[in-house]
Amino acid sequence: MAERLISQADAFHKALHAWYDAYHRLLPWRDMPSLYKTVVSEFMLQQTQVDTVLPYFEKWMLRWPDFQALAQATEEEVVKAWEGLGYYNRARNLYRLACLVAEMPEPPKTADGWIVLPGVGPYTAAAIASIACGDPVAVVDGNVIRVLTRLVADDRMFKDNGTAVKAMDPLAQALVSPVFPGDHNQAMMELGATICYRLKPLCTMCPVVNFCAGAADGDPERFPRFLPRITERVFLKRLWLIHDGKLLLRQHGAAAKRLSGMYELPLAEPLVAILLDEDIVAKKRRAISNQQIEETIYQCRWMPVMEKVIAKDPELRWVQLSDLGGITLSGPHRRWVNELLARGVGEEM
Ligand code: SF4
Repeated sequence: MAERLISQADAFHKALHAWYDAYHRLLPWRDMPSLYKTVVSEFMLQQTQVDTVLPYFEKWMLRWPDFQALAQATEEEVVKAWEGLGYYNRARNLYRLACLVAEMPEPPKTADGWIVLPGVGPYTAAAIASIACGDPVAVVDGNVIRVLTRLVADDRMFKDNGTAVKAMDPLAQALVSPVFPGDHNQAMMELGATICYRLKPLCTMCPVVNFCAGAADGDPERFPRFLPRITERVFLKRLWLIHDGKLLLRQHGAAAKRLSGMYELPLAEPLVAILLDEDIVAKKRRAISNQQIEETIYQCRWMPVMEKVIAKDPELRWVQLSDLGGITLSGPHRRWVNELLARGVGEEM
């Protein structure tokens, strides 16, 4: 099937690109595109939905309109501006990348040149180089895997996304348009995001339905095939402790990597040994990668004896309630803190 599709590449490009030209979503990084806009949007879009990224992107461009402006900022300012987008290493890497690019006589023009820069993996390198520099290299993300496996009815069983990327990469590279690689890659991703849905793909509206073996087969939803994922359940107990107009928080050190420098509500241990159900003020669930995390937040009474434990732990900090807006809390913790303060849980017990 793959050989047949590759042999029809010219006709496939024509159908796909005509559809993309006519129907692509109007997004701010596609409006008067530039290398810098492409880089920032690709970093923001890693693991994050377009709708979530939009307001951040607009504000970012006003504040730091090019690599040079971003390189003048501090890492702390950059991470603060990223607050709520999650995966904060992206912000730190983007900042480091801007500092490097701002010093170069000219930025790299190929995926091989981009991939050595901070935070740039094979996907991001291919996206930046093809969209902004015309390098004929294909991107392979979840959307592209779905479209490609359906186009050729590839029923191999993949262990995970990484395995699927490796397996589908040769077909993606063989199919990429040598003339319009950037539009081609964006069109493939756009097709996956807006037509070739995981469930109920809109095959009757699809510009490449005539090339699609999965649709011809009658059940495209069965591609791609993945082994069932093993999820791990994690239970965390956190404290809501206010004393003297200050909230107790943990500011993660460098060892926390992804959360380095960021504030979160502290875990109950070792500050409080006994927690009572009646003191629960919130229960939150979230999923990160293959973990299902349930976090229970307990309001707790301040006791002088706690100060010894707090003094011994350099990451625990009392933060004035009036100063909370100025620190960088991780996204979920910002929402929880705002919610608990709005509910008046901020009062001392
Ligand atoms: S025809 Fe259907 S399954 Fe095939 S690529 Fe288009 S939307 Fe996806």
